[in-house]
Amino acid sequence: MLKKSNYNIEVETLENGSKLIFNTISSLFSIMDIRTHEIYESIENIDIHTIKSNEDKCNIDLMKKAGYIIDKNINELEHLRLMAKVQRFANSTLSLTIATTMDCNMACPYCYEKRVEKYMTEDIQEAVYNFVESYIKKNNCKHLGITWYGGEPLMNKDAIYNLSEKFIKLCEKLGINYGSSIVTNGVLLDKETGERLKEYKVGFAQITIDGMPEFHNKRRILRDGRDSFDIIVNNIEDCKDLLHISIRINVDKENLSSLDELTNFFYNEKKWIKSPSFYLTPVRDDNEDYDVTKTTCFYGTEFSSIEMENLKKKSQYDKDSIQYAAYPRARGNFCGGDNLSSFVIGPDGYLYKCWNEVDQVGKRIGNVTNGLIFNEEHTKWLLIKPQEKCLECKFYPICRGGCPQKYFDNNDAECLHTIHNLTEKLKFAYEDYIASKEKAAEAV
Ligand code: SF4
Ligand code: SF4
Repeated sequence: MLKKSNYNIEVETLENGSKLIFNTISSLFSIMDIRTHEIYESIENIDIHTIKSNEDKCNIDLMKKAGYIIDKNINELEHLRLMAKVQRFANSTLSLTIATTMDCNMACPYCYEKRVEKYMTEDIQEAVYNFVESYIKKNNCKHLGITWYGGEPLMNKDAIYNLSEKFIKLCEKLGINYGSSIVTNGVLLDKETGERLKEYKVGFAQITIDGMPEFHNKRRILRDGRDSFDIIVNNIEDCKDLLHISIRINVDKENLSSLDELTNFFYNEKKWIKSPSFYLTPVRDDNEDYDVTKTTCFYGTEFSSIEMENLKKKSQYDKDSIQYAAYPRARGNFCGGDNLSSFVIGPDGYLYKCWNEVDQVGKRIGNVTNGLIFNEEHTKWLLIKPQEKCLECKFYPICRGGCPQKYFDNNDAECLHTIHNLTEKLKFAYEDYIASKEKAAEAV
C-alpha cells in the first residue's frame, strides 16, 4: 500500500487545474495533471494491482520515483533522523577551517571578530600538520578539505603556502583527495597570489563587496585609509580565471539602494555572468559593538523579498541562477559544526566547532598538540536534536533546523532565510521554464 509523502509542497494550481508539486527530500518539482492528482489524493485507498490503465500505472511509478508517494510502512521522519546520524558521524572526509591569523587589514563596523595580531607560527603549522596526518590515518579518511580563514588569511600567506604544500604531498602519499578554498576580503589577492593559490590547489574564493564604491568604501574600511573597492574589483578581474570566485554581498537597509547598480556593474560593465558569481547575505546583529546594525538589519521574511527581486534580475542575465536557487538539496547535517570530522583551527592551534567562535576561550574543544577533547562544548554539537517545530516542518530536510550556533545562542531554531521564499522561487522557475519553451517553439 502507498501513502503521500509528508514532504510534498503544493506550490500552485495552474489555470488548467494541474498542480505544481515539489518534494523537499527528493528536490523534484513537477506538473501533476488533474487525473494524476486525483490518484495522488486518493492513493491510500487504491489497490494499485487493480489499476488497468497503463497511463495511470506509469504516473504512479513516476510519483514513486519522485518521492511524492511512498510505501505505507516508511516512516520518513525516522529515515531523515537516520540520514542525519549517518552524515553527522561520517568520517571519510576531514574538513578543516584554518585561521592563519586573527589580524585583518580591514576594520568593518559590522564584523563580529575582534582583530588580534595573532599569527600562526611555523611551530603551530607543524603541529597542525601532525594533527591532520594522525587524524587521517586513524580514521582512514579519503578526502581532506581545507578552508583558509581569518582574520584575513592572506595576511599570513606563508602559512597557507607551507601547509598547502605539506597537505598536498601527504594526500598524494596516502592516495586521497585534496581540495581547498579561501574566505578573503580580496585586498591582497593580486595576480601573483592567485597564481600561487592555484598552484596550491585553492579552487574557490569567497570575497565580499558591499555595494558600489560610495557604500562599499564606507563599510569595507581599510585600516591604512585607502579605499578598497577598486583594489578588490581589479584583483577579482586578475584572478577570475585562476580560481572560481563567489562574491558575497552583505545587505542591510543602508546599502540596499546600491544593489541594482552593483548588479548592473557586475553584469553589464564587468561582464561577470557566471564567473565570478554573486549572492546576497543579510547583515546580522551578531556584533554587540555595532549598534547601528540593530536598526539597519533585515529580519525574518523582510530579506526574502529582496533576495527574490534580485534573483529575478539575475535570471535576465544568467538563466541557471533561478534553476540553482529553486532546487535546494536535502541535507543530513547543517554545516561542519554538527559533523564529527569537521573542525576550525585557530592561529594558536586551538580547535573549535564553528568559525564564528574561533579565538573564544570558552568555545575550545582541544588543541592540535594534545588532540580533541569531548567536553560539553564539543558534545553538544554532536548530540544536537531537532526542535518539535522542525519535526513537523515540511522544510526540515532542507533546513535541518538552521544554523546550530544560533540555536545554541537563542535556544530556538532559526528558519533558514532561503526557506521563506522557496515557494515563490519555484513559481518563478516554472514561469521561466514556460517562457523558454514558448521561445524555443517560436524559433522553430
Ligand atoms: S554553526 Fe552556524 S555560524 Fe557556525 S559554521 Fe555552522 S552555519 Fe556557520
Ligand atoms: S528552523 Fe524553521 S524552516 Fe527550519 S526546519 Fe525548523 S521550523 Fe522548519
